[in-house]
This record gives sequence, structure tokens and C-alpha cells, in this order.
Amino acid sequence: MTNLFKSINADGGAEGGGGSQNHPMSSGATPGDRAPTAIVIGTGFGGLAAAIRLSVKGYRVQMLEKLDAPGGRAYVHKQDGFTFDAGPTIITLPHLIAELFTLCGRDMKDHVDLRLMSPFYRIRFDDGTHFDYSNNDEAMLDQIAQFSPEDVQGFKTF
Ligand SMILES: Cc1cc2nc3c(=O)[nH]c(=O)nc-3n(C[C@H](O)[C@H](O)[C@H](O)COP(=O)(O)OP(=O)(O)OC[C@H]3O[C@@H](n4cnc5c(N)ncnc54)[C@H](O)[C@@H]3O)c2cc1C
Repeated sequence: MTNLFKSINADGGAEGGGGSQNHPMSSGATPGDRAPTAIVIGTGFGGLAAAIRLSVKGYRVQMLEKLDAPGGRAYVHKQDGFTFDAGPTIITLPHLIAELFTLCGRDMKDHVDLRLMSPFYRIRFDDGTHFDYSNNDEAMLDQIAQFSPEDVQGFKTF
């Protein structure tokens, strides 16, 4: 069953307050009921980002989500008092999220406190070894050379 999860109005912002009339990207947008409607299916990061962009452009946006909460891959499952995070653990490209705030005339720093983690995360193997994923290319190449030398070139290409 598909639930209508959220309706975002072009002239009302994501929370029904504020407004996008003064934003450069919304020039020419038709406010309220006269605005064209866009429907975004899925409330993962991709759907949410698309909805924000459409909203800023002046569309009335409706989001459809088959689950009971937004997040997509970032949805969390709760069972027996535990919360299971099944998907993304870190934000690898924060500037893309900052861009969405900017489009809405906001500064991400006023809403979210992102902190650089080093390493991003540690992968532990049964044999006691571990691999630290980070944005330090030299450290990454050193580790890949130890674990799988044939993949060094592939990582450089990536
Ligand atoms: C294990 C794992 C780890 C990851 N780690 C990271 C990370 O650390 N950092 C990072 O930046 N990215 C990470 N990613 C990638 C990131 O999660 C995805 O790029 C992102 O979630 C994709 O967003 P999306 O909106 O395209 O799709 P999704 O997040 O998959 O969202 C799709 C949504 O659409 C809904 N939907 C589907 N069909 C319908 C329908 N017919 N009607 C209504 N709703 C529907 C689904 O229920 C879901 O909510 C990870 C992904 C996985 C799987």
C-alpha cells in the first residue's frame, strides 16, 4: 500500500512555512494552487533532493512513500528495543547537501553540525585485520596495497 507521506508546497516550503518567492530559482513560479504539481515517488536521499529542487523551482511537490517513514536506504528498523541502521553511515559528499540548503536560501551550518570523522569507518575482518576508510589517498593506497595489490590501480582510476 502506498501512503501519501508528505506534501510540499512551492509557496510554503517543506514545513508549510517560509517561502521561496525571493529565491532566484523560483522566479516566475506560480504560488499556491496555481503552481504546477510534481509527484516524487520514494523518500530516499534522491527523492528528497529532487523534491527540494522542484519545490524551489516553484512546483507543488507531493512525495509518495510505501514505507511508514522517509529515508529510503537510510530508514532504520526497530525490533526488541534495538535500532538497526541498514544503510548509509556517513555523508561522503556534504557539499551536495549544503547545496540543497543554499537553494532554499538557508545555510546548512545553521541547521546541521557535521563533523569530519577520521577514519570515516573501520572494517574489521575475522582474522583480526582491519581496513580504515578515509579521505587520505596515501593511507588508502597503502592499505589496498597490503590487502589486494592488484586493486591499487583500480582505486586510482576510481
Ligand atoms: C549498505 C549501504 C550503505 C551505504 N552507505 C552510504 C554512506 O555511508 N554514505 C552515502 O552517502 N551513501 C551510502 N549509501 C548509498 C545511499 O544510501 C544511496 O545512494 C541513497 O540512499 C539512494 O537514495 P535514493 O533516494 O535513490 O534511493 P533509496 O534510498 O533506495 O530510496 C527509495 C525509496 O523509494 C521507496 N519506494 C520504492 N518504490 C516505491 C513505490 N512504488 N511507491 C512508493 N515508494 C517507493 C522506498 O521505500 C524508499 O524509501 C549506502 C547504501 C547502502 C545500501
